[in-house]
Amino acid sequence: MITSYMDLLPVIILGGLGSTGSTTLARKLSQALDLTFYSVGEIIRSLCVKEGICTKEDIKNGMFEKMYKDLAEFLKKNPKLNQKIDQETIEIIKNAKNPTCIEGRIASALATKEKLPVILKIWITADITDRVKRFRIKNPKTTLPEDEIAKILLERDKLEAEQYFKLYQIELDKPSLYNDIVLDTSGLSVEDSYFKLIQHEVFREKIKKLWQFFPSYDVVYRWKCEVCGYLYEGFTPIHLCPHCGNIDEQKITDLT
Ligand SMILES: [Zn+2]
Repeated sequence: MITSYMDLLPVIILGGLGSTGSTTLARKLSQALDLTFYSVGEIIRSLCVKEGICTKEDIKNGMFEKMYKDLAEFLKKNPKLNQKIDQETIEIIKNAKNPTCIEGRIASALATKEKLPVILKIWITADITDRVKRFRIKNPKTTLPEDEIAKILLERDKLEAEQYFKLYQIELDKPSLYNDIVLDTSGLSVEDSYFKLIQHEVFREKIKKLWQFFPSYDVVYRWKCEVCGYLYEGFTPIHLCPHCGNIDEQKITDLT
Protein backbone atom coordinates (compact mmCIF):
# COMPACT_ATOMS: atom_id res chain seq x y z
CA MET A 1 0.00 0.00 0.00
CA ILE A 2 1.27 3.46 -0.85
CA THR A 3 0.77 5.90 1.97
CA SER A 4 -0.28 9.34 0.84
CA TYR A 5 1.96 12.19 1.93
CA MET A 6 -1.02 13.84 3.56
CA ASP A 7 -1.26 11.02 6.09
CA LEU A 8 1.97 12.32 7.55
CA LEU A 9 2.48 14.70 10.43
CA PRO A 10 4.76 17.60 9.40
CA VAL A 11 7.17 16.90 12.22
CA ILE A 12 10.90 16.35 12.46
CA ILE A 13 12.02 14.92 15.79
CA LEU A 14 15.59 15.40 16.85
CA GLY A 15 16.97 13.91 20.03
CA GLY A 16 20.09 12.70 21.72
CA LEU A 17 21.58 12.10 25.13
CA GLY A 18 22.67 15.08 27.26
CA SER A 19 25.36 17.34 25.80
CA THR A 20 25.51 15.58 22.43
CA GLY A 21 24.67 18.88 20.70
CA SER A 22 21.16 17.88 19.69
CA THR A 23 19.56 21.13 20.89
CA THR A 24 21.96 23.29 18.89
CA LEU A 25 21.40 21.19 15.78
CA ALA A 26 17.63 21.25 16.19
CA ARG A 27 17.64 25.03 16.52
CA LYS A 28 19.86 25.40 13.48
CA LEU A 29 17.68 23.12 11.40
CA SER A 30 14.53 24.93 12.53
CA GLN A 31 16.00 28.25 11.55
CA ALA A 32 17.13 27.00 8.14
CA LEU A 33 13.82 25.35 7.29
CA ASP A 34 11.54 27.86 9.00
CA LEU A 35 10.16 25.22 11.38
CA THR A 36 8.19 25.89 14.52
CA PHE A 37 10.56 24.84 17.27
CA TYR A 38 9.70 23.01 20.48
CA SER A 39 12.16 21.87 23.07
CA VAL A 40 11.14 19.25 25.59
CA GLY A 41 14.04 20.55 27.69
CA GLU A 42 12.25 23.89 27.95
CA ILE A 43 9.08 22.16 29.12
CA ILE A 44 11.12 20.29 31.75
CA ARG A 45 12.98 23.42 32.85
CA SER A 46 9.80 25.39 33.47
CA LEU A 47 8.45 22.38 35.35
CA CYS A 48 11.57 22.30 37.55
CA VAL A 49 11.05 25.94 38.45
CA LYS A 50 7.37 25.27 39.14
CA GLU A 51 8.21 22.29 41.34
CA GLY A 52 10.95 24.15 43.20
CA ILE A 53 13.80 21.89 42.01
CA CYS A 54 15.69 24.99 40.91
CA THR A 55 15.14 28.70 40.30
CA LYS A 56 15.13 30.69 37.07
CA GLU A 57 18.43 32.19 38.24
CA ASP A 58 19.97 28.71 38.56
CA ILE A 59 19.04 27.97 34.96
CA LYS A 60 20.50 31.28 33.78
CA ASN A 61 23.71 30.54 35.69
CA GLY A 62 24.00 27.06 34.26
CA MET A 63 23.36 25.49 37.65
CA PHE A 64 20.57 23.44 36.19
CA GLU A 65 23.09 21.14 34.57
CA LYS A 66 24.49 20.28 37.98
CA MET A 67 21.02 19.28 39.02
CA TYR A 68 20.52 16.74 36.28
CA LYS A 69 20.99 14.00 38.78
CA ASP A 70 18.60 15.57 41.25
CA LEU A 71 16.07 15.97 38.47
CA ALA A 72 16.37 12.35 37.40
CA GLU A 73 15.95 11.27 41.03
CA PHE A 74 12.99 13.61 41.40
CA LEU A 75 11.28 12.19 38.32
CA LYS A 76 11.98 8.69 39.54
CA LYS A 77 10.01 9.47 42.67
CA ASN A 78 7.31 11.25 40.67
CA PRO A 79 6.66 9.05 37.62
CA LYS A 80 3.37 10.82 36.97
CA LEU A 81 5.24 14.03 36.26
CA ASN A 82 7.36 12.25 33.70
CA GLN A 83 4.25 10.90 32.06
CA LYS A 84 2.81 14.41 32.01
CA ILE A 85 5.87 15.73 30.16
CA ASP A 86 5.67 12.85 27.70
CA GLN A 87 1.94 13.34 27.18
CA GLU A 88 2.54 17.01 26.40
CA THR A 89 5.20 15.99 23.85
CA ILE A 90 2.80 13.55 22.19
CA GLU A 91 0.10 16.23 22.01
CA ILE A 92 2.47 18.67 20.31
CA ILE A 93 3.34 16.03 17.71
CA LYS A 94 -0.27 14.98 17.12
CA ASN A 95 -1.51 18.54 16.72
CA ALA A 96 1.24 19.86 14.48
CA LYS A 97 -0.26 21.48 11.40
CA ASN A 98 2.72 23.50 10.21
CA PRO A 99 6.28 22.25 9.71
CA THR A 100 7.58 21.61 13.19
CA CYS A 101 10.75 20.48 14.90
CA ILE A 102 10.64 18.85 18.29
CA GLU A 103 13.87 18.47 20.18
CA GLY A 104 13.74 15.94 22.98
CA ARG A 105 15.35 12.77 24.17
CA ILE A 106 12.31 10.56 24.36
CA ALA A 107 10.17 12.10 21.59
CA SER A 108 11.17 9.71 18.80
CA ALA A 109 10.62 6.63 20.96
CA LEU A 110 7.23 7.95 22.05
CA ALA A 111 6.21 8.77 18.48
CA THR A 112 7.23 5.26 17.40
CA LYS A 113 5.37 3.65 20.26
CA GLU A 114 2.24 5.74 19.55
CA LYS A 115 2.59 5.03 15.81
CA LEU A 116 2.59 8.73 14.97
CA PRO A 117 3.48 9.17 11.28
CA VAL A 118 6.09 11.89 11.63
CA ILE A 119 8.29 12.70 8.65
CA LEU A 120 11.69 12.14 10.18
CA LYS A 121 13.27 10.99 13.44
CA ILE A 122 16.91 11.84 14.08
CA TRP A 123 19.14 10.72 16.94
CA ILE A 124 22.41 12.50 17.68
CA THR A 125 25.29 10.67 19.33
CA ALA A 126 28.76 11.74 20.42
CA ASP A 127 31.43 10.03 22.48
CA ILE A 128 31.78 10.95 26.13
CA THR A 129 34.88 13.12 25.62
CA ASP A 130 32.96 15.30 23.18
CA ARG A 131 29.92 15.41 25.42
CA VAL A 132 32.06 16.68 28.30
CA LYS A 133 33.53 19.37 25.99
CA ARG A 134 30.06 20.41 24.85
CA PHE A 135 28.81 20.48 28.43
CA ARG A 136 31.65 22.86 29.28
CA ILE A 137 30.81 25.17 26.37
CA LYS A 138 27.16 25.18 27.41
CA ASN A 139 28.06 25.79 31.06
CA PRO A 140 31.07 28.10 31.02
CA LYS A 141 30.74 28.81 34.73
CA THR A 142 31.02 25.19 35.80
CA THR A 143 33.93 24.39 38.07
CA LEU A 144 33.43 20.63 37.88
CA PRO A 145 36.45 18.63 36.70
CA GLU A 146 36.10 16.67 33.47
CA ASP A 147 35.88 13.23 35.05
CA GLU A 148 33.13 14.48 37.34
CA ILE A 149 31.11 15.85 34.40
CA ALA A 150 31.54 12.56 32.55
CA LYS A 151 30.35 10.70 35.64
CA ILE A 152 27.24 12.89 35.92
CA LEU A 153 26.39 12.51 32.24
CA LEU A 154 26.79 8.73 32.27
CA GLU A 155 24.87 8.32 35.51
CA ARG A 156 22.07 10.37 34.07
CA ASP A 157 22.02 8.25 30.89
CA LYS A 158 21.68 5.18 33.06
CA LEU A 159 18.93 6.62 35.24
CA GLU A 160 16.92 7.76 32.24
CA ALA A 161 17.32 4.46 30.45
CA GLU A 162 16.07 2.61 33.54
CA GLN A 163 13.23 5.05 33.98
CA TYR A 164 11.94 4.71 30.44
CA PHE A 165 12.29 1.00 30.37
CA LYS A 166 10.25 0.81 33.53
CA LEU A 167 7.61 3.25 32.33
CA TYR A 168 7.25 2.32 28.67
CA GLN A 169 9.54 -0.66 27.98
CA ILE A 170 11.48 1.71 25.75
CA GLU A 171 15.16 0.89 25.27
CA LEU A 172 16.79 4.31 25.15
CA ASP A 173 20.19 2.78 24.52
CA LYS A 174 19.02 1.32 21.20
CA PRO A 175 18.23 4.51 19.25
CA SER A 176 18.20 2.81 15.86
CA LEU A 177 14.96 1.09 16.90
CA TYR A 178 13.18 4.44 17.07
CA ASN A 179 14.94 6.66 14.58
CA ASP A 180 15.43 6.99 10.84
CA ILE A 181 18.88 8.48 11.24
CA VAL A 182 21.46 7.89 13.99
CA LEU A 183 24.14 10.53 13.47
CA ASP A 184 27.52 10.27 15.18
CA THR A 185 28.91 13.77 15.66
CA SER A 186 32.04 12.81 17.62
CA GLY A 187 34.89 15.15 16.80
CA LEU A 188 32.71 17.37 14.62
CA SER A 189 31.96 21.07 15.01
CA VAL A 190 28.35 22.26 15.01
CA GLU A 191 28.72 23.34 11.38
CA ASP A 192 30.18 19.99 10.32
CA SER A 193 27.52 18.04 12.23
CA TYR A 194 24.82 20.08 10.54
CA PHE A 195 26.39 19.50 7.16
CA LYS A 196 26.68 15.77 7.81
CA LEU A 197 22.99 15.68 8.70
CA ILE A 198 21.60 17.54 5.71
CA GLN A 199 23.81 15.54 3.37
CA HIS A 200 22.55 12.27 4.79
CA GLU A 201 20.79 10.20 2.14
CA VAL A 202 17.79 9.47 4.37
CA PHE A 203 17.47 13.13 5.33
CA ARG A 204 17.43 14.20 1.68
CA GLU A 205 14.81 11.64 0.81
CA LYS A 206 12.46 12.26 3.74
CA ILE A 207 12.70 16.05 3.79
CA LYS A 208 10.96 16.21 0.39
CA LYS A 209 7.76 15.21 2.13
CA LEU A 210 7.82 18.36 4.22
CA TRP A 211 7.42 20.95 1.47
CA GLN A 212 3.68 20.50 0.98
CA PHE A 213 3.01 21.44 4.61
CA PHE A 214 4.21 25.00 4.43
CA PRO A 215 1.39 27.46 4.79
CA SER A 216 0.63 29.75 1.88
CA TYR A 217 2.39 32.99 2.46
CA ASP A 218 1.64 36.10 0.45
CA VAL A 219 4.99 35.94 -1.25
CA VAL A 220 5.73 33.38 -3.92
CA TYR A 221 9.36 32.36 -3.98
CA ARG A 222 11.09 31.31 -7.18
CA TRP A 223 14.58 29.95 -7.43
CA LYS A 224 16.64 27.60 -9.55
CA CYS A 225 18.98 24.89 -8.32
CA GLU A 226 22.15 25.20 -10.36
CA VAL A 227 23.19 21.65 -9.49
CA CYS A 228 20.26 19.76 -10.99
CA GLY A 229 18.30 22.50 -12.73
CA TYR A 230 15.23 22.11 -10.51
CA LEU A 231 12.92 25.14 -10.61
CA TYR A 232 11.26 25.97 -7.32
CA GLU A 233 8.08 27.96 -7.07
CA GLY A 234 6.28 28.03 -3.77
CA PHE A 235 5.47 29.72 -0.55
CA THR A 236 8.43 28.92 1.62
CA PRO A 237 11.72 30.79 1.63
CA ILE A 238 13.60 27.51 1.86
CA HIS A 239 16.80 27.18 -0.05
CA LEU A 240 17.20 23.44 -0.03
CA CYS A 241 16.68 21.67 -3.31
CA PRO A 242 14.00 18.99 -2.87
CA HIS A 243 15.29 17.23 -5.98
CA CYS A 244 19.02 16.81 -5.37
CA GLY A 245 19.41 18.04 -1.78
CA ASN A 246 21.64 20.98 -2.68
CA ILE A 247 21.75 23.56 0.10
CA ASP A 248 24.66 25.61 -1.15
CA GLU A 249 23.37 29.21 -1.41
CA GLN A 250 26.03 29.86 -4.06
CA LYS A 251 24.45 27.24 -6.30
CA ILE A 252 20.91 28.56 -5.97
CA THR A 253 19.75 31.40 -8.19
CA ASP A 254 16.98 33.56 -6.82
CA LEU A 255 14.36 34.31 -9.49
CA THR A 256 11.84 36.06 -7.24
ZN1 LIG B 1 18.90 20.41 -7.13
